[in-house]
Amino acid sequence: MIPRGFDYFSPQTLEEALALVAEHGAEAKLLAGGHSLLPMMKLRLAAPGVLIDLGRISDLRAIREEGEQIVIGAMTTHAEIEKSGLLRRRAPLLAEAAAEIGDVQVRNRGTLGGALAHADPAADYPAAVLALDAELTLVSQRGTRTVAAQDFFVDLLTTALEPGEILTEIRFAADGPRTGSAYLKLHQPASGFAIVGVATRVQLDSKGKCEATAVGVTGVAPKAYRATQVERALKGKALNERIIAQAAGKAAAGVEPLSDLHASARYRKAMAEVFTRRALALALERARRRQ
Ligand SMILES: Cc1cc2nc3c(=O)[nH]c(=O)nc-3n(C[C@H](O)[C@H](O)[C@H](O)COP(=O)(O)OP(=O)(O)OC[C@H]3O[C@@H](n4cnc5c(N)ncnc54)[C@H](O)[C@@H]3O)c2cc1C
Repeated sequence: MIPRGFDYFSPQTLEEALALVAEHGAEAKLLAGGHSLLPMMKLRLAAPGVLIDLGRISDLRAIREEGEQIVIGAMTTHAEIEKSGLLRRRAPLLAEAAAEIGDVQVRNRGTLGGALAHADPAADYPAAVLALDAELTLVSQRGTRTVAAQDFFVDLLTTALEPGEILTEIRFAADGPRTGSAYLKLHQPASGFAIVGVATRVQLDSKGKCEATAVGVTGVAPKAYRATQVERALKGKALNERIIAQAAGKAAAGVEPLSDLHASARYRKAMAEVFTRRALALALERARRRQ
């Protein structure tokens, strides 16, 4: 279908974009890679009268180190994240998740900020940013605020973004020694979206015991979540296959799994356990190699 007609703006700076957002209010939508918004407009599930394209704001497209932190601009594409040498070296989890998104065309156009703001329950990044304990920077003409990933995803397709706000960047700590991560996913064969996706980070202490784990799960529930019962079951333990398998049994504890034409709730719950177990085992192996 053809979308409804709209006015198009292409600001060159964040300040210009914020002014446009404030001026046009609820009538306006931000445009990033367009890979979620444009299909919705064509189906007339979204019909904004104004599109504000963030594509020319070069400040929003960067991956950099700030001390021990990694900072990524919202307009950075999936392909740039996937191929970033800095990320592969210092904090590979997000790059591993980016490599799993859609196909080459989607990865070349789609952006980190667009994917997070869209908050699709089957999107890959939410699991990774939860496991990374990332912080998201939201800017409006009223000021700047920082929101933890845990508080950003509110519900299906719903985030903590308020009217007039633009997500400008995310930041998280680079991996320290004895830290390993992994993102594993069961793909929906046609779209590539996650039926289940599990992002894990495992940190070992100097004796090789589990100091901390973080487990982010996408695809299973209306919004991505941290599997806190799994994390608690592993803390302080000398990890092995049996302990990981026992803990992974709690991967969907406390959530009501989705059921749709792609997978039943029971299947999603079972796959959450399987992929949590596999992702933890891989992250543990990588943590042991990273002294
Ligand atoms: C065929 C296909 C396969 C795909 N497969 C996958 C997959 O396997 N895994 C996966 O995770 N995703 C997948 N996607 C989605 C893809 O990752 C999109 O790129 C992503 O969801 C949206 O990013 P975008 O940059 O295209 O945002 P857009 O579509 O431009 O915007 C999405 C929404 O976010 C808002 N927005 C955009 N940027 C900002 C910002 N900086 N601040 C505030 N709001 C903003 C927009 O107003 C809009 O509401 C797929 C898409 C397609 C078309």
